[in-house]
Amino acid sequence: METQQPEFNVDSDSLKTILRVLGEGAYTVDRDRRIVFWNQAAERLTGYRADDIVGRKCSDNLLRHVLADGTELCLHGCPLLATMEDGNSREAQVYLHHRDGHRLPVFVRSAPLRDNDGSIVGSLEIFSDRSDGNALLAELESLKREILTDPLTGLGNRRYLDIMSETRFAALKEEGLHFGLMLADIDHFKRVNDDYGHLNGDRILTMTAKTIAGAVGSLDAVVRFGGEEFVVLCPNCGGADLAKIAERICTLLRHAWIDIGPEEKLSVTVSIGGAISEREDDLKSLVARADKRMYECKKTGRDRYLIGD
Ligand code: GH3
Ligand code: MG
Ligand code: MG
Repeated sequence: METQQPEFNVDSDSLKTILRVLGEGAYTVDRDRRIVFWNQAAERLTGYRADDIVGRKCSDNLLRHVLADGTELCLHGCPLLATMEDGNSREAQVYLHHRDGHRLPVFVRSAPLRDNDGSIVGSLEIFSDRSDGNALLAELESLKREILTDPLTGLGNRRYLDIMSETRFAALKEEGLHFGLMLADIDHFKRVNDDYGHLNGDRILTMTAKTIAGAVGSLDAVVRFGGEEFVVLCPNCGGADLAKIAERICTLLRHAWIDIGPEEKLSVTVSIGGAISEREDDLKSLVARADKRMYECKKTGRDRYLIGD
């Protein structure tokens, strides 16, 4: 039942935002197996409200997961505990106790939650109703992916940007935490399509997307904003921090390429405009400022960045 799943290493606000929109039940526990977060789908699936559950210990056998043979997992073989101990994700088919009393067949997956130093600080469990079999689960998975990601590059899409920026603007308004936004546009991308064909154009897009994603920090969100335009959201960032990230993106891209043939490599550069959020901003006004600076870079020679307030 052990599997290698991606580990979560995102700030808790972003994690909560994502978990809230999930159609699947999700909850997190701290190292003492005390429930910290309980999403709306979990409320719907189990009948227990967050108020009933948050703060209580799942080791008190609250949810009473059992296997088909009746083994009580909370007491003998809790997947969350095992995940926190060895850092491995797990999945299992179990039966949950519903508040109304019946046993609900669910598919559960656990993943470790780590802090920025990589230490395990808790565990996440995602669970979905499998009354209709795994087809429903597969459909949910693909729906979730479709809704929030760009299929070509695997990056987040505009909807994902909307969700992430909402969290950032809330943190700005409530706690005064400023964030940076950058718009990166591939230089002369039309020529790539014209000279090397659309398929190589797509390969360049994916290569650029992955290079940008690799150049930014784990808390930064990278989104495909349009055809050959990418947005990077950087929480808790000032202009100097943003410039460093922009510099890294430009540099890494200059050293990245796709192979066209045995002898030929193809590289591209980007022009990047960046802005720091102000209290009166919304996503549109922030993107507009970054876009203006990006355009300035195009006019002054491309393969460069311009960051401002
Ligand atoms: P500039 O340096 O001024 O940004 O020039 P550019 O050629 O990059 O800009 P322009 O906006 O003229 O061209 C963008 C091109 O991106 C045009 C469009 O055909 C192409 N494009 C948009 N989406 C995709 C895609 O998904 N795949 C491919 N291969 N091309 C795409
Ligand atoms: Mg463009
Ligand atoms: Mg372009």
